Amino acid sequence: MASVDLTHFLVVGAGAAGLMTARELARAGKRVTIIEARDRCGGRIFPLPSEEFGYKAEGGAEFVHGAAPVTRAVMREARLSLSPRQGTRWSARTGALSPDEPSLPDADRFYQALTEVKADLPVAEFLETHFAGRRYDELRRSVTRTVEGYDAADPHRFSTMALRDEWISRDDGEHGRIAQGYGALIDYLASECRLQGAAIHFGAAVTSVDMVRGRIAARCRDGAVFEADAAILAVPLPLLSDIALPSATRERVAATADIGFGNVVKILLRFETKWWADSGGRNLGDLSFLMSNARVPTWWTQHPDEYPVLTGWFAGPKADRVSALTEAELIDMGLASLAEIFDLPPDRISTNLAASRAINWGNDPFARGAYSYATPRTRDALSVLRAPSGDAIFLSGEALYAGPDMGTVEAALASGQETAQTILRGSPATSPRA
Ligand SMILES: Cc1cc2nc3c(=O)[nH]c(=O)nc-3n(C[C@H](O)[C@H](O)[C@H](O)COP(=O)(O)OP(=O)(O)OC[C@H]3O[C@@H](n4cnc5c(N)ncnc54)[C@H](O)[C@@H]3O)c2cc1C
Repeated sequence: MASVDLTHFLVVGAGAAGLMTARELARAGKRVTIIEARDRCGGRIFPLPSEEFGYKAEGGAEFVHGAAPVTRAVMREARLSLSPRQGTRWSARTGALSPDEPSLPDADRFYQALTEVKADLPVAEFLETHFAGRRYDELRRSVTRTVEGYDAADPHRFSTMALRDEWISRDDGEHGRIAQGYGALIDYLASECRLQGAAIHFGAAVTSVDMVRGRIAARCRDGAVFEADAAILAVPLPLLSDIALPSATRERVAATADIGFGNVVKILLRFETKWWADSGGRNLGDLSFLMSNARVPTWWTQHPDEYPVLTGWFAGPKADRVSALTEAELIDMGLASLAEIFDLPPDRISTNLAASRAINWGNDPFARGAYSYATPRTRDALSVLRAPSGDAIFLSGEALYAGPDMGTVEAALASGQETAQTILRGSPATSPRA
C-alpha cells in the first residue's frame, strides 16, 4: 500500500516538526494521534510564564533567523508579527566595553582558504592545516568561539563546508523575534491540529514502536499502547536511539551518529532596573547583544522592549562540561560573568535580581541537548535517514532537514511540512508486514 492510502497516523513528539506534520496530515483528511512525553506542546520552544519575567520569556528558541519562509508563512496565517532586532552590539573582548566588535583577523586569507576547500573536514582540522602558526592564534580563537557559541558545535566535528555556507552564503533576511512569542506559533499549530480533529496525548513517553499484525504500535513508559497505520517520529536526535524500533528502522537511525547535536545553557535574569543602561558613564540604553570573554560570554537584552532582563548564553562542548551544576550554581556563574564584564562588585548586581532561571538543555530528558549541526558525514547520513523506508515509520524534526537552516525552528517546520507532503504524495512506503 502506498503511504497516500494509509489513513491513521501516530505523530510522536508535539514540537514544531510534529505539530506541522500533524496539521498537514489532518488537513488532508487523515486521522492523526499525537503522542507527547511532556505535559505541553512546543518541545524546544519553551515560553516561561509571564509572571516570572514580565513577558513570555523564551527558555528555548527565541529568534527568527533570516528569510525563514515556512516560519513566516505560518506567522502570516496565525496573524503573528515580527519584531525586528534593533539596538547596538557591544563587545568587552578587548577588556573595556566598546560598541565596536573586533573584526576577524586575516579575514581575506581565511575566506579564500574556505572557498578553496574541496573535500569536507572538521573545522578544527581546517584551522590546523591552514592557520597553524602563532600569528593566527586570534583567528583560530575567534572562529572556534563562533562555532561553539553560535552553532553549539564541537569544532573537532563541525563541517567546514557548513561553516562556509553559513558565513559566505549568508541569508540576508531580517532577523527578529515573534512579537507575541514563539509560544503563540505553537498554540496556533496545536489549535489547528485540534480543529482538524487530531487528538493530543500528553505525558506519553514512547519507549518502542513495533509492527503488529500489519499495524504500527507505539508503547509508552506508563504501559499505554497506541495503534495506527503508520508513525512519524518527530523527537530530538538523541531520543531517536532510545526508542526500540523494528530492525530496518533501527539500522537507518544508526546514521544519526554522523549528525552533531550540541548543547546550550540559557540563563535568564530579571532585574529591578536596567542597571546596565548607564554603565560607568557609557550609555548602553539600546544594548542589543554583548560579547565577552567571560565564562558566560554572550548576553542580550529585549531591546527595543524595555524589560529589565538579560539573557546569557553558554554553548557547545563547554556547556556539556557543566552538566553537574545546579540551577542556582549556573545563575551564580551568570552573575559572576556580568560582574566581570561590567567591572562591578558581584553583590551590586545580585541585590538587583528579581527573578532568574537557568536551563541546561543537555539535562532535559526529552531534548538531551539544544540543536543539531553538520559534520563532514551529515550529508550522507541525511540521505539514509530521509530515504523512503518501506516500513511505514517516518522520521521528522529539525535535524532531518536538508536545507540551509539546520538547527532552527524553520528547519523543524520545513521538515514537518516535507514529511507530510512525502506521505500525501504517496511515497514508496508500504503498509507494514506482520
Ligand atoms: C536554548 C535553545 C535556543 C534556541 N534558539 C533558537 C532560535 O533562536 N531560533 C531558532 O530558529 N531555533 C532555535 N533553537 C532550535 C529550535 O528550538 C529547534 O530546532 C526546534 O524547536 C526543534 O523542533 P522539533 O520539533 O524538531 O523538536 P522538539 O521541539 O524538541 O520537539 C520534539 C518533541 O518530542 C518530544 N519527545 C521526546 N522524546 C519523546 C518520546 N520518547 N515520546 C514522546 N515524545 C517525545 C519532546 O518532548 C518534544 O516535545 C533553540 C534551541 C534551544 C534549545
